[in-house]
Amino acid sequence: MEVGRAPRRPGPIVTDDSAVFWDAAALRRLVAQRCGNCGALRHPPRPMCPRCRSLAIEVVSLSGRGTLYSYALLHHPQHPDFDYPVPAALVDLEEGLRMVSNLCGIAPDDIRIGMPVVVDFEPTVDGRAVPVFRPAADGR
Ligand code: ZN
Repeated sequence: MEVGRAPRRPGPIVTDDSAVFWDAAALRRLVAQRCGNCGALRHPPRPMCPRCRSLAIEVVSLSGRGTLYSYALLHHPQHPDFDYPVPAALVDLEEGLRMVSNLCGIAPDDIRIGMPVVVDFEPTVDGRAVPVFRPAADGR
């Protein structure tokens, strides 16, 4: 986001399952669910472990570091609250989860599959924040 500019990004749709994720994002923390039975991490948030069907849920902090698995530049349909093209990204987090997000801080022509990225947070009009990813400063 440009310094001094009011947030334009719409707020997330928060459900009973996703509230813990969005509450953490509002505090600029990236979290995921971990099964309280088998320990498997999962994202997006959901009530049951896809591996062992346990309903036991733990919430763990993630490093926010990962690599760009793939991306697409979205041109249509356009919404007035976004600048186009919107770089939609699939990020492989170092904990083994894949997350759908946006890229920021990089020109579309400079995006490279496999590039190291790190989480950042874009404020939303409702006072929350959405995790996005930018190129890792150390280029690791
Ligand atoms: Zn499990």
